[in-house]
Amino acid sequence: MAKALTTSLLGRNREEISALVSQAGEPGYRAEQIVEAVYRQRVDGLEEISTLPFEFREKLAASGLTVGAARIEKKFVSVDGTVRYLIGFGDGQSVETVWMPEGDGGEAGDGSEAGEEAEVFSLDTSGAKAQFQRAGFDAGPQGLLHPRRKPRPGRSTICISSQVGCAVDCQFCLTALLGVKRNLTAGEIVGQVCAVLKDQRVSPPEDRVNLVFMGMGEPFLNYENFVKAARLLVECVGIAERRMTVSTAGVVPRIRDFGEERIRPKLAISLNAPNDALRTRLMPLNKKWNLEMLMGAARAFPLRTREWITFEYVLLGGVNDHPEDAREAAELLRGLRCKVNLIALNPGPGIDFTTPGAERVAGFQEILRTAGIPAFVRRPRGRDIYAACGQLKRTVEIATSPEPRPEPSSSLYPLPEE
Ligand code: SAH
Repeated sequence: MAKALTTSLLGRNREEISALVSQAGEPGYRAEQIVEAVYRQRVDGLEEISTLPFEFREKLAASGLTVGAARIEKKFVSVDGTVRYLIGFGDGQSVETVWMPEGDGGEAGDGSEAGEEAEVFSLDTSGAKAQFQRAGFDAGPQGLLHPRRKPRPGRSTICISSQVGCAVDCQFCLTALLGVKRNLTAGEIVGQVCAVLKDQRVSPPEDRVNLVFMGMGEPFLNYENFVKAARLLVECVGIAERRMTVSTAGVVPRIRDFGEERIRPKLAISLNAPNDALRTRLMPLNKKWNLEMLMGAARAFPLRTREWITFEYVLLGGVNDHPEDAREAAELLRGLRCKVNLIALNPGPGIDFTTPGAERVAGFQEILRTAGIPAFVRRPRGRDIYAACGQLKRTVEIATSPEPRPEPSSSLYPLPEE
């Protein structure tokens, strides 16, 4: 059955736009003009689509259609160049989207060119100021950093949200405090990318941009919209599949479905603990899809040539960062084509965990590496503006005092039982 479409052009694929054009009795080539305007030129309104005849634009507007471009409501710039955007939608809801001009280090070591460049760059220790200037920022009044020119191509990363809030309730994540408000449409997911590209004056594929579905929400609990958005990003915006990574907390049935997609980003799984007892404590969804089910799906995942699965592991001081935890994690991952991204906890109000010191993190990494598992430490980006992993929570609510965590409910994951 055909799905009801929103009134936005953003979020529609070529076939849907072609159908619209032929219903209007317009020649077929108009469809490509609309795709070009919406996804490549990234226009804000129908009136800007100058390739279309005035009458056709009027007709589209009269039928209630809009471009549906995402609106940047607020913008915060970190001392490290990271930019956190608050992006608003028609119903007053908003999400956060993060621009990292230097990447987040997460893509390093994954075999992509961007990763290699990021690795080389991180060896350069000639001072933070020079680093910002190389990244294209100048210090302005009040220490605000202003884009001076386009960032060097190949290592910028956009981190996008898939839901308003999140239902998964990971105990160390600030977004969890919001609960889930609603799913984003495909148009709203793609809209975040278009808005940020436009604001940063960057355009793929000429400018190489990496994309991570690691912002607010659990993409695999908004699966259809996420998959449609990923296809639009490849086919209409021009971002290559190998430059995109989706991260899941471990929605096992969807990991299986994802493996069968013809067009798909790379897969990352938030592991965060090496055994069920600890993982259930930190990530209650482990009760539904435990480590045996998760690792079964990971081992069965059809990897492409030179592709591997990324496992993310948030290190919480004294909780999951013991040498024994590292050994157990190495055992769990043995024989899998994978790498591990270690993230020291990004703190936040209402988060009852501590950030382990650099030595502890390095020790954990060393144990994994010695066991033959590539492990990388992700540099935190934009902590000062609450833009780092697990810190995304709509800005307005950050200012208020921490509220108690919502009671976990058994209906959080609306998927059929396995
Ligand atoms: N729901 C998806 C994607 C969003 S979270 C998922 O769970 O994978 C993106 C990453 O940020 C996850 O790996 C998560 O474990 C990590 N993360 C969450 N809270 C964090 C925090 N406070 N500090 C560091 N990383 C965190």
